[in-house]
Amino acid sequence: MRIIRKVAEMAAFDANHAGLVPTMGAFHEGHLSLMRKAKAENGSCVVSLFVNPTQFGPNEDLSRYPRPFERDVQLAEEAGVDILFAPEAGDMYPGHPTVVRVPAVSELWEGAHRPGHFDGVATVVLKLFNIVGPKRAYFGQKDLQQCLVIRKMVNDLNVQIHLSFEATIRESDGLAMSSRNVYLSPQDRLAAVLLPTSLQRLAEKLQHSSKSESEVETLLAQERCELESGGFKVDYFALASLPDLQPTLDPSEPSALIAAARIGSTRLIDNRILAPYSIE
Ligand code: AMP
Repeated sequence: MRIIRKVAEMAAFDANHAGLVPTMGAFHEGHLSLMRKAKAENGSCVVSLFVNPTQFGPNEDLSRYPRPFERDVQLAEEAGVDILFAPEAGDMYPGHPTVVRVPAVSELWEGAHRPGHFDGVATVVLKLFNIVGPKRAYFGQKDLQQCLVIRKMVNDLNVQIHLSFEATIRESDGLAMSSRNVYLSPQDRLAAVLLPTSLQRLAEKLQHSSKSESEVETLLAQERCELESGGFKVDYFALASLPDLQPTLDPSEPSALIAAARIGSTRLIDNRILAPYSIE
């Protein structure tokens, strides 16, 4: 595996048959499964490892975000990655950089709770597409809104790339894998399972019988209460339409349950797309 640090060196490399996996490092099985898929489907895999400062708010965890670089190098190598692109922030962002803003779908949910977050995401992802120039890029459905923002950007700006959105990889108790799970205390880790449990329980209810809007509203409120009783501070727990992520109470339309909640000092996000829909 080759490690490239310089933007100019990466841009000069011919990666137009490669699959790209953009990441912020601290690899877990969610990242590694994207890498293996990119390698299997394209023959070669480029992984970007960049803790992108522009997608963190002023009071967020940029400085304490885990950065186990040597371990990441080893895991990427074992996953069959061909190039690990790990640029410096100063090389990625000149003074007063251009910003990509994706309207509407960026503004709700995560966008409302983390102002500027998706501007940072859309900008860095478009830059990575332009620097690396891959055939296909891979993202995880754990970050459902991110997938939808990137898809809209690619469609709106006619970016010549194929996108793949892969299923969420979970721990054995259902917690979605995340680099931020290392922040969970042992006690918070036990409580954290309530979030996927709650989403799954409600998804099953909504998928298997038709419900009126007021029934859906009551069920959402009940699950939110369960989470709060379990120690969570809930930012949102909602049903949202696909692909626009507008709030809805109609689970017979393409939709997903989406949630963000804090346990201790850790903010977790998760979602369940209601069957039979998908965003692949
Ligand atoms: P991150 O390093 O957190 O920015 O994530 C890099 C990529 O891995 C993003 O496309 C994420 O959606 C994806 N990802 C993160 N966690 C998971 C997971 N548990 N399952 C599948 N993909 C994931």
